[in-house]
Amino acid sequence: MGAMPRPCDPEHVLNQSPPYVDVDLYGSDQPLRDAVAANGGGEHATVLAEFGCHWGTAEMFDLAREANENPPKLRRFDPRGFRLDIVEFHPAYHHFMAQSISVGLHASTWRSDAGPAAPPAQVLRAARFYMAAQIETGHLCPITMTRAALAALAVEPGLATKLGPAILSREYDRRFMPWWKKTGITLGMGMTEKQGGTDVRTNTTRAQREGDAYAITGDKWFMSAPMCDAFLVLAQAPGGLTCFLMPRFRPEGAVNSLRFVRLKDKLGNRSNASSEVEFAGASAWRVGEEGRGVRTIINMVQLTRLDCAIASTAIMRMALAQALHHARHRSVFQRLLVEQPLMRGVLADMAIEVEAATALVMRLARSFDLAAGDAREEARARLLTPAVKYWVCKTAPALVYEAMECLGGNGYVEENPLPRLYREAPVNAIWEGSGNVMCLDVLRALASEPALMSAVLDAVGRETQGLPGASATAMFIQEAFSGKEPEAKARLAVGQLALLAAAAALRECAPAVAEIFARTRLHEPHGGMLGTSKLGSDEARVLLDRALPVG
Ligand SMILES: Cc1cc2nc3c(=O)[nH]c(=O)nc-3n(C[C@H](O)[C@H](O)[C@H](O)COP(=O)(O)OP(=O)(O)OC[C@H]3O[C@@H](n4cnc5c(N)ncnc54)[C@H](O)[C@@H]3O)c2cc1C
Repeated sequence: MGAMPRPCDPEHVLNQSPPYVDVDLYGSDQPLRDAVAANGGGEHATVLAEFGCHWGTAEMFDLAREANENPPKLRRFDPRGFRLDIVEFHPAYHHFMAQSISVGLHASTWRSDAGPAAPPAQVLRAARFYMAAQIETGHLCPITMTRAALAALAVEPGLATKLGPAILSREYDRRFMPWWKKTGITLGMGMTEKQGGTDVRTNTTRAQREGDAYAITGDKWFMSAPMCDAFLVLAQAPGGLTCFLMPRFRPEGAVNSLRFVRLKDKLGNRSNASSEVEFAGASAWRVGEEGRGVRTIINMVQLTRLDCAIASTAIMRMALAQALHHARHRSVFQRLLVEQPLMRGVLADMAIEVEAATALVMRLARSFDLAAGDAREEARARLLTPAVKYWVCKTAPALVYEAMECLGGNGYVEENPLPRLYREAPVNAIWEGSGNVMCLDVLRALASEPALMSAVLDAVGRETQGLPGASATAMFIQEAFSGKEPEAKARLAVGQLALLAAAAALRECAPAVAEIFARTRLHEPHGGMLGTSKLGSDEARVLLDRALPVG
């Protein structure tokens, strides 16, 4: 007689979904493939598929878990009391950094002379960034800051030329040593102080001229990725708030005076370190004119905001994929979850949101691609970046929560990626300008160049003409922005603008989905909760098949 099977033996584990690993993140994502093709990247399917297969391996999923279960540690002093001010990361974090840098997620949108790379560089990078962010988002903080920093450095061509080659390098060099001795470098950013992150004009950090450079004294309340090789920081110079580049090592080779106070104990984003830091007369170079700090650094922030929206879309995509995969394998009352009408409605409604966000961020990346030679596209990028960040980043937490619920109790348990995605989701709405700040930024953009911005609104209106609810939405937006007290209506109007832009973007990638999206988001009253859209059974089937092939 053989031994009785024990409860933990595989044959006793019934009705559990297999792990969602070893997936082709590109090939299995029809909305992404359509959005890439519609925005100029269709010829690059092979390299994107290679990237998607590699990042979707079980090994990458597991490394992401490790990087987040083993957060970075601050080492302020050595055993003899000498200052160290270094942060140690888990090898899995370094692995992700090396992988992302090797394909240029930190720099591929720049040419070797630090000018913008030719289209579709933004779209291709956005697609890769989107796939990488589905697996591990923490390490993408220094990656996104590095690629965006070059936009700020552009006002100081001497600095851009000096640091450009090390920034553009495809080698990740984690060694703590002067940047000019390294094979590749990364850049961070320090703006936020205790008394104000949005209102950086209240910065109290001071800058005093010292020969060709400045000595910076003060502190920053948040400065992420503190092992970057240099940081763009804001400080008050005699001529007003100014942008500076502060290297970790002084030009003569000594460690610069950055004193890390502690690392933030964060809700999510655990693999990444976010420090509180003091500058004790730290040496820095001026970037742009004195008094033009905000104007200089805003060029960087436009790009990091785009990445926030891409990363939030990616988080939603992974949550949806996990939920749909589970629902296709899990039976309740002798019927697969995916076939239960209520669950099917929830999954299909989530799929609409993810399709829309994917189309929207890829269309926005195309505007960045075309901005250099097309004033309309430049204006579109300027106006829609804060609107897209606002809507996408605010949509993500609710969607991830709903995906978690689709997995039942398993969704709430840490061995599963859902809790990490859930903790990660809110941060993209908070940093790089929080929700209200994005709405105010849309109003600022409209006021700064009314004719160009109005042309963008007209274009979005034309692109959505004939879609259910589109013309009424376009009219509402125009009235809200041009009426009295636009600030009071800005959340509603900016949200509607993002929805209309999403309908326009979807129409280029998947016209049938654009119809469903417009009908359920612009035309019919939406119950506010996922699973409340009125969808026909054919529509739900199309949406779910597009979201993830069966198998
Ligand atoms: C994990 C993490 C990492 C970070 N890393 C960095 C970093 O590397 N570098 C860096 O510089 N900063 C960093 N930050 C800081 C972040 O950018 C700020 O927290 C953010 O910009 C908001 O600033 P604040 O915290 O001072 O909030 P406040 O500026 O006080 O804003 C609080 C709230 O008020 C709202 N608000 C502000 N102005 C208005 C208004 N006029 N009308 C209506 N509402 C308004 C905001 O939308 C927000 O919701 C990080 C933050 C986090 C959470």
